[in-house]
Amino acid sequence: MEEHSGPKDTRGTAGALDLYKALAESGTWESLEALRRENRELESLVNDVSGLLGLSGIPEMMEFVISRFLDRFIPVFLAFLIEPPRGGRVRQYCYRSLHPADEEVPIRYYRALKRLFLEDSRSRTFEEARQALGDSAFDRDFLSYEPELILPMRGIGGLYGIILLGRKIAGAEYTLPERMYVDRLSRFLSVAIQNGLHHESSITDPKTGLFNHDYFMRRAEDELARSARHGSRAGMILADVDHFKRFNDRYGHLAGDEVLQVLSRVMKAATRSEDTVARFGGEEFSVLIVECDEAHLAEVAERIRAAVEGMRVPYKGEVLSVTVSLGARLLDARERRGARDLLDDADRALYASKAAGRNRVTIYRPGLLGRASMRRLPGGAAGGSAAAPAGP
Ligand code: GH3
Ligand code: MG
Ligand code: MG
Repeated sequence: MEEHSGPKDTRGTAGALDLYKALAESGTWESLEALRRENRELESLVNDVSGLLGLSGIPEMMEFVISRFLDRFIPVFLAFLIEPPRGGRVRQYCYRSLHPADEEVPIRYYRALKRLFLEDSRSRTFEEARQALGDSAFDRDFLSYEPELILPMRGIGGLYGIILLGRKIAGAEYTLPERMYVDRLSRFLSVAIQNGLHHESSITDPKTGLFNHDYFMRRAEDELARSARHGSRAGMILADVDHFKRFNDRYGHLAGDEVLQVLSRVMKAATRSEDTVARFGGEEFSVLIVECDEAHLAEVAERIRAAVEGMRVPYKGEVLSVTVSLGARLLDARERRGARDLLDDADRALYASKAAGRNRVTIYRPGLLGRASMRRLPGGAAGGSAAAPAGP
């Protein structure tokens, strides 16, 4: 108690100096500084992670991580190698100096590194990986990435990808804080990307990669709601392959599958990126056209019809072709009808196209007193002869 009875300011300064001296001598001051730095690092990591978790698409997540790296360092090469949940080709996102690069890491390196991570899931320096797998595991092409760090991407179900980080463009090796940052961020990124991949597969159709039925209906409801708020109009188109049963009987199911896949690409190419093309089921497809009137809706439906008619699919020495019949309907919230009802109308129009000879477009028009009128667009020359093989 007595020590504290002197004049206030002298006692305070002297006390603080003594305290600093004692802390510095014991090394406590330095540890305190290190803790502060670590605290700042963690705070920035938490900010980055919360930014990351707010993103839904994988390209956006990649862009975000690139921007975070850019604040700290620029690697000569960066690659994310990702196994999609449904299997198939490993997806690659490669960057040179953090700019997207159109190249692919040979898949044998992915397999070798994956084996390594399955034994021990810690991230490693390239030197550690080389020691574990041997010099012969890495050829010149791999060394050209100037790899320095290799990190696993783990989620539910374990390892599903790998991150390759080349040396820094400027400066020496990655510092310990930089390594820790990359290591920590990559753990969260791995979970976020896996979420994104699962979301993607929950709204797409595995055979064609188009959106699925459920997603299409949700988007149609959304457009109706937007129409109610802003008075905008959208349209839906249903397309059904003509005589596809006959086609399968003649060429086989695998040929049919191949045709459905090409047809999906043709339909996407015939629409804008903001429109939604879905596989509605079996050999039926649906398209949601945003911001459109009847003329535009008819134009897109006719474009799809003509594009499919002109499609040629080489398959085991034959050239296959099909046609589609289409039904379309505008979505306008003022009619106060649900997406399901509007879809039934489009289906009715589709049926009318079938009845009129196939390979044609019918637009459903809500008529007076609830009676529908159909506007029929003439079909192509080959109307109805869907499964006929095209000439070479
Ligand atoms: P319509 O012109 O009246 O539409 O005749 P259709 O033969 O196309 O109509 P139907 O509904 O009787 O037959 C649809 C056929 O589509 C039967 C089915 O085997 C085939 N199909 C549905 N999904 C697939 C698929 O994923 N792959 C293949 N190869 N065929 C499919
Ligand atoms: Mg059908
Ligand atoms: Mg059909």
